[in-house]
Amino acid sequence: MTKKLFIKTYGCQMNVYDSVRMADVLAPLGYRPTEQADDADMIILNTCHIREKAAEKVYSELGRLRQLQEKRTQEGGRLLLGVAGCVAQAEGEEMLRRAPQVDLVFGPQTYHRLPEMVTRVLGRVSGASGLVDTDFPAESKFDALPEEAASQGAAAFLTIQEGCDKFCTFCVVPYTRGAEFSRPVSSLLDEAKKMVATGAAEITLLGQNVNAFHGEGPDGKTWGLGRLLRALAEIDGLARLRYTTSHPRDMDDELIEAHRDLGVLMPFLHLPVQSGSDRILDAMNRRHTAEDYLRIIDRLRGARPDIALSSDFIVGFPGERDQDFADTLKLVTEVGYAQAYSFKYSPRPGTPAAAVEDQVDETVKAERLAMLQQLLNAQQLAFNQGSVGRVVPLLLERKGKFPGQLVGRSPHMQSVHVQAPDRLLGKIVQVEIEGAHANSLSGRVQTDIFTSDHDMAAPSREIRTA
Ligand code: SAM
Ligand code: SF4
Repeated sequence: MTKKLFIKTYGCQMNVYDSVRMADVLAPLGYRPTEQADDADMIILNTCHIREKAAEKVYSELGRLRQLQEKRTQEGGRLLLGVAGCVAQAEGEEMLRRAPQVDLVFGPQTYHRLPEMVTRVLGRVSGASGLVDTDFPAESKFDALPEEAASQGAAAFLTIQEGCDKFCTFCVVPYTRGAEFSRPVSSLLDEAKKMVATGAAEITLLGQNVNAFHGEGPDGKTWGLGRLLRALAEIDGLARLRYTTSHPRDMDDELIEAHRDLGVLMPFLHLPVQSGSDRILDAMNRRHTAEDYLRIIDRLRGARPDIALSSDFIVGFPGERDQDFADTLKLVTEVGYAQAYSFKYSPRPGTPAAAVEDQVDETVKAERLAMLQQLLNAQQLAFNQGSVGRVVPLLLERKGKFPGQLVGRSPHMQSVHVQAPDRLLGKIVQVEIEGAHANSLSGRVQTDIFTSDHDMAAPSREIRTA
């Protein structure tokens, strides 16, 4: 019997991938995805723990869902509630104590066991206490996951690496996602080929620290990300490759050379630096200096002159003085970003930085964030305005808000809105950029040069001057 599954995904793209895979795992039990929480038989909140109040937000969402669950029980039905992801991993049993209506609490490394957990829960009476599985099992979930059941569409995500051993002093990831682990190359090539066969033109490789990838190659040797990208670039019909998120310490020569040599590797890189101050970088345990970072950027630009850059920044890290913040603004000015994410430092319980006494005042954090964002927004707008008048290949990914509108991504990750028929969804078309806004562009499809699925050539060298 078909049952309806609603998954609400918070946080990073790795959670997006995990949610797709949870649906795959539950498909043999008859669960099919729905867009409506109201008529679902199971609701899973796939949570993120990276910033403050994450757990509180999940508890209030669970409070709202309890009403839906109670209504269902009164009607003689049953609504299963599951909490997945990093909040589930961090809270564990505590979650059942604070939200006893939850049926399943499971972490990012155990969702391959969902069918067993769901079967066990359904075998119990409604109202019995829920199950918790927040292990870091010895077996890899990837070996137990079924093939992807549904196409992810034209732009697909593929998790190649998980966990982190870097232990930046502000970050919960090493605690919630566990130790660094890379998948074997042959299973990644197989999965990527299947994605292309089911309609993916672009694949984004995912990992908490994706460029620390060190998977076992078919030759028995350890392959780095550069080598993996070369092998993926050979897949027929795959037009675009991206990867995220990277750490500056893992930008090795092979990877930089991949940016030089592979046309399918898009000229855009999210390379978080967090701060421009060496003192703060050291306190964050980032293990590189601002100068090291700038040298990497120079080498990347040497390899691929049109590469556009993005970063994450944290302002108000404990002990950050005006001069440290000024160093961050200086670095931003020197690099010139196409886009970036910036956050106020948020103390995460259990991380070393949270225990430091020299915390920065909230108003100072807010002021610094506003200044940094003003600079980053101006850079982003200038970058977008620089695209006006250019013709760029656009992968049309989804429908827009307005009738006849489609939205796609440029090689530089800009969202571009165009008027185009639905039959072009999933295709790469050449688009002349006509308008630039802070967060998106608008353009006109060059109707005479539609590109079909099969002749989606790698982006030509010309667009590298974009
Ligand atoms: N692995 C990536 C790296 O090394 O840069 C980042 C992964 S983390 C999931 C995404 C971003 O969240 C970080 O780059 C950082 O800017 C931000 N972040 C992590 N912990 C934070 C905290 N405690 N307070 C504020 N921002 C935080
Ligand atoms: Fe967190 Fe990234 Fe640092 Fe790992 S490298 S601890 S994921 S910020």
